Amino acid sequence: MSRVALAPGMAAAALLLAALVPAPAFAEDPPPSAVTDLVERAAELDGRRVALEGEAIGSPMIRDSGAWVNIADRSGALGVWMGAETARGIARFGSYGAVGDTLRVTGVFHRACAEHGGDMDVHADGTIVTAPGRPVAHPVPAGRVVAALALALVAAGAVAALAAFGQDRGPRTPPPGYPGSAKSS
Ligand SMILES: [Zn+2]
Repeated sequence: MSRVALAPGMAAAALLLAALVPAPAFAEDPPPSAVTDLVERAAELDGRRVALEGEAIGSPMIRDSGAWVNIADRSGALGVWMGAETARGIARFGSYGAVGDTLRVTGVFHRACAEHGGDMDVHADGTIVTAPGRPVAHPVPAGRVVAALALALVAAGAVAALAAFGQDRGPRTPPPGYPGSAKSS
Protein backbone atom coordinates (compact mmCIF):
# COMPACT_ATOMS: atom_id res chain seq x y z
CA MET A 1 0.00 0.00 0.00
CA SER A 2 1.44 3.37 -1.02
CA ARG A 3 1.33 6.67 0.81
CA VAL A 4 -0.61 8.17 -2.08
CA ALA A 5 -3.39 5.63 -1.60
CA LEU A 6 -3.57 6.43 2.12
CA ALA A 7 -3.77 10.19 1.71
CA PRO A 8 -7.49 10.53 0.87
CA GLY A 9 -8.46 8.45 3.91
CA MET A 10 -6.24 10.51 6.16
CA ALA A 11 -7.72 13.71 4.79
CA ALA A 12 -11.20 12.37 5.55
CA ALA A 13 -10.12 11.49 9.08
CA ALA A 14 -8.70 14.99 9.55
CA LEU A 15 -11.98 16.51 8.34
CA LEU A 16 -13.92 14.28 10.74
CA LEU A 17 -11.67 15.36 13.63
CA ALA A 18 -12.11 18.99 12.65
CA ALA A 19 -15.88 18.50 12.75
CA LEU A 20 -15.64 17.11 16.28
CA VAL A 21 -13.48 19.94 17.62
CA PRO A 22 -15.69 22.14 19.80
CA ALA A 23 -16.62 25.63 18.78
CA PRO A 24 -14.14 28.22 20.08
CA ALA A 25 -14.85 28.85 23.75
CA PHE A 26 -14.99 32.26 25.34
CA ALA A 27 -11.56 33.55 26.24
CA GLU A 28 -12.42 33.71 29.94
CA ASP A 29 -13.55 30.10 30.06
CA PRO A 30 -11.06 27.87 31.85
CA PRO A 31 -9.86 24.77 30.01
CA PRO A 32 -11.74 21.59 30.93
CA SER A 33 -10.53 19.88 34.08
CA ALA A 34 -10.69 16.15 34.72
CA VAL A 35 -13.31 15.23 37.32
CA THR A 36 -10.59 13.85 39.61
CA ASP A 37 -8.75 17.17 39.40
CA LEU A 38 -11.88 19.00 40.49
CA VAL A 39 -12.30 16.60 43.40
CA GLU A 40 -8.64 16.83 44.42
CA ARG A 41 -8.61 20.64 44.20
CA ALA A 42 -12.09 21.04 45.67
CA ALA A 43 -11.04 23.41 48.46
CA GLU A 44 -9.11 25.65 46.08
CA LEU A 45 -11.80 25.66 43.36
CA ASP A 46 -14.82 26.11 45.62
CA GLY A 47 -17.01 28.89 44.23
CA ARG A 48 -14.81 29.37 41.14
CA ARG A 49 -15.57 28.94 37.48
CA VAL A 50 -14.49 25.62 36.06
CA ALA A 51 -15.03 23.64 32.91
CA LEU A 52 -15.34 19.94 32.40
CA GLU A 53 -15.93 17.79 29.39
CA GLY A 54 -17.43 14.33 29.38
CA GLU A 55 -20.24 12.03 28.44
CA ALA A 56 -23.79 12.61 29.67
CA ILE A 57 -24.68 9.36 31.42
CA GLY A 58 -27.69 7.82 33.11
CA SER A 59 -30.86 9.82 32.88
CA PRO A 60 -31.46 13.49 33.66
CA MET A 61 -33.37 14.31 36.83
CA ILE A 62 -35.53 17.28 36.04
CA ARG A 63 -36.61 19.38 39.04
CA ASP A 64 -38.77 22.39 38.22
CA SER A 65 -36.64 24.70 36.09
CA GLY A 66 -33.40 22.84 36.64
CA ALA A 67 -32.04 19.38 35.98
CA TRP A 68 -29.30 17.12 37.21
CA VAL A 69 -27.12 15.58 34.57
CA ASN A 70 -24.24 13.28 35.41
CA ILE A 71 -21.13 13.97 33.37
CA ALA A 72 -18.49 11.25 33.20
CA ASP A 73 -14.98 11.52 31.86
CA ARG A 74 -12.21 8.91 32.03
CA SER A 75 -11.45 9.84 35.62
CA GLY A 76 -14.88 9.96 37.24
CA ALA A 77 -18.36 11.45 37.23
CA LEU A 78 -19.86 14.61 38.68
CA GLY A 79 -23.39 15.95 39.00
CA VAL A 80 -24.05 19.08 36.97
CA TRP A 81 -27.00 21.33 37.68
CA MET A 82 -28.26 22.95 34.49
CA GLY A 83 -31.41 24.44 33.05
CA ALA A 84 -34.16 21.92 32.36
CA GLU A 85 -34.37 23.10 28.75
CA THR A 86 -30.65 22.54 28.30
CA ALA A 87 -30.99 19.01 29.70
CA ARG A 88 -33.90 18.28 27.36
CA GLY A 89 -31.66 19.29 24.48
CA ILE A 90 -29.26 16.43 25.19
CA ALA A 91 -30.10 13.84 22.55
CA ARG A 92 -28.48 10.76 24.05
CA PHE A 93 -27.37 9.64 27.49
CA GLY A 94 -24.83 6.91 28.06
CA SER A 95 -26.19 3.50 29.01
CA TYR A 96 -25.63 -0.16 28.15
CA GLY A 97 -27.04 0.50 24.70
CA ALA A 98 -25.59 3.91 23.95
CA VAL A 99 -22.68 6.30 24.22
CA GLY A 100 -24.07 9.58 25.48
CA ASP A 101 -23.50 13.01 23.97
CA THR A 102 -20.18 14.58 24.96
CA LEU A 103 -20.77 17.87 26.72
CA ARG A 104 -18.47 20.77 27.50
CA VAL A 105 -19.80 22.38 30.64
CA THR A 106 -18.69 25.65 32.18
CA GLY A 107 -20.02 26.90 35.45
CA VAL A 108 -19.39 27.44 39.12
CA PHE A 109 -17.93 24.60 41.15
CA HIS A 110 -19.28 23.89 44.62
CA ARG A 111 -17.31 21.70 46.95
CA ALA A 112 -20.36 21.20 49.19
CA CYS A 113 -23.34 22.93 47.63
CA ALA A 114 -25.54 24.55 50.27
CA GLU A 115 -28.38 24.74 47.77
CA HIS A 116 -28.24 21.02 47.02
CA GLY A 117 -27.84 19.19 50.30
CA GLY A 118 -24.09 19.64 50.60
CA ASP A 119 -23.23 17.62 47.52
CA MET A 120 -20.29 18.45 45.29
CA ASP A 121 -21.61 19.86 42.02
CA VAL A 122 -21.18 22.32 39.19
CA HIS A 123 -23.89 24.88 38.40
CA ALA A 124 -23.62 25.14 34.64
CA ASP A 125 -24.08 28.44 32.83
CA GLY A 126 -22.80 27.17 29.52
CA THR A 127 -23.31 23.73 28.05
CA ILE A 128 -22.42 22.71 24.52
CA VAL A 129 -22.47 19.33 22.81
CA THR A 130 -18.97 18.72 21.44
CA ALA A 131 -19.68 15.24 20.05
CA PRO A 132 -22.96 13.46 19.49
CA GLY A 133 -23.64 10.15 21.19
CA ARG A 134 -24.42 6.98 19.32
CA PRO A 135 -26.13 3.68 19.88
CA VAL A 136 -23.88 0.77 20.79
CA ALA A 137 -24.52 -2.54 19.08
CA HIS A 138 -24.00 -5.63 21.19
CA PRO A 139 -23.60 -8.36 18.55
CA VAL A 140 -23.80 -11.18 21.10
CA PRO A 141 -26.70 -10.74 23.51
CA ALA A 142 -25.84 -11.51 27.13
CA GLY A 143 -28.26 -14.47 27.15
CA ARG A 144 -26.35 -16.14 24.35
CA VAL A 145 -23.07 -15.74 26.19
CA VAL A 146 -24.57 -17.65 29.12
CA ALA A 147 -25.88 -20.33 26.75
CA ALA A 148 -22.48 -20.63 25.07
CA LEU A 149 -20.80 -20.91 28.45
CA ALA A 150 -23.24 -23.68 29.47
CA LEU A 151 -22.54 -25.54 26.22
CA ALA A 152 -18.80 -25.18 26.80
CA LEU A 153 -19.21 -26.71 30.26
CA VAL A 154 -21.24 -29.61 28.82
CA ALA A 155 -18.55 -30.11 26.16
CA ALA A 156 -15.81 -30.07 28.81
CA GLY A 157 -17.76 -32.68 30.78
CA ALA A 158 -18.08 -34.85 27.68
CA VAL A 159 -14.34 -34.61 27.03
CA ALA A 160 -13.65 -35.61 30.64
CA ALA A 161 -16.05 -38.58 30.34
CA LEU A 162 -14.38 -39.70 27.09
CA ALA A 163 -10.96 -39.43 28.71
CA ALA A 164 -12.13 -41.62 31.61
CA PHE A 165 -13.64 -44.10 29.14
CA GLY A 166 -10.34 -44.18 27.23
CA GLN A 167 -8.47 -45.04 30.42
CA ASP A 168 -10.82 -47.97 31.08
CA ARG A 169 -10.07 -49.34 27.65
CA GLY A 170 -6.35 -48.86 27.99
CA PRO A 171 -3.77 -51.69 28.19
CA ARG A 172 -3.89 -53.73 31.39
CA THR A 173 -1.43 -55.89 33.16
CA PRO A 174 -2.27 -59.52 32.49
CA PRO A 175 -3.84 -61.30 35.49
CA PRO A 176 -1.59 -63.73 37.44
CA GLY A 177 -1.05 -67.07 35.77
CA TYR A 178 -1.23 -65.83 32.21
CA PRO A 179 1.83 -65.74 30.00
CA GLY A 180 3.56 -62.42 30.45
CA SER A 181 2.38 -61.88 34.01
CA ALA A 182 4.91 -61.26 36.71
CA LYS A 183 4.33 -64.59 38.51
CA SER A 184 4.49 -66.94 35.50
CA SER A 185 7.67 -68.78 34.59
ZN1 LIG B 1 -25.79 22.84 43.73
